[in-house]
Amino acid sequence: MRIDVVTLFPDFIRQSAELGVVGRAGERGLMQVACWNPRDYATDNYRRVDDRPFGGGPGMLMLIDPLRACLAAARQAAPEPAPVIYLSPQGERLTQRKVRQLAALPRLILLCGRYEGIDERLVASEVDEELSVGDYVLSGGELGAAIVIDAVGRLQEGALHHAESATQDSFEDGLLDCPHYTRPVEHELGTVPEVLRSGDHAAIARWRRQQALGRTWLRRPDLLARISLSKADQALLEA
Ligand code: SAM
Repeated sequence: MRIDVVTLFPDFIRQSAELGVVGRAGERGLMQVACWNPRDYATDNYRRVDDRPFGGGPGMLMLIDPLRACLAAARQAAPEPAPVIYLSPQGERLTQRKVRQLAALPRLILLCGRYEGIDERLVASEVDEELSVGDYVLSGGELGAAIVIDAVGRLQEGALHHAESATQDSFEDGLLDCPHYTRPVEHELGTVPEVLRSGDHAAIARWRRQQALGRTWLRRPDLLARISLSKADQALLEA
């Protein structure tokens, strides 16, 4: 998969894409991240990319033309069609389901806003969708783009050591993940639950499912409300 990022801070995106699982996906050729700086497409001597908003008010807005030229260059860099996704607090909220959809695409272009945002005419004509990483306001889209790159990158086939670990994560089956433990068994902070050491795989699976159901019920009842539980799950939840 290829992700092109239009950003005034390409170093941040490049550096974050070099870390951990996503960095490994890059090294293995599973994922390619390229950055495009609108400043390189500004036409004045000051490489200006922003201006004051009409109607007054605080802050600056990103200009249409440098962004438009930058997006055109990013589009032409590879043959695959790519939706342009503007990271924006006004967009659809990013979910694991959405991440799975994006991860299946051959290519994406992520557009990072700065200042008070982007001239609306560019958003209306060049952007295919807006994606928000949460109901709060960041000073720029780069952190959001890094989140998309990470979440999508770890789902590329071969990126994780154990492919099934992604399918057991929170949200994949509509529930939060169960708690996990490693050595030592005994610690001053507590003891690893006995069932996990029993070698009884059916009992372990049952315990994990029950924990996942219980945690979701306690912490995110909104998630439980969205799925229909089997009779076995109902029984585990009520046990
Ligand atoms: N005036 C805009 C508004 O209230 O909708 C906020 C602009 S924000 C200060 C600057 C840039 O940060 C935005 O253009 C967007 O790219 C990014 N951004 C801010 N919050 C975000 C969020 N929750 N999700 C994704 N991107 C966000």
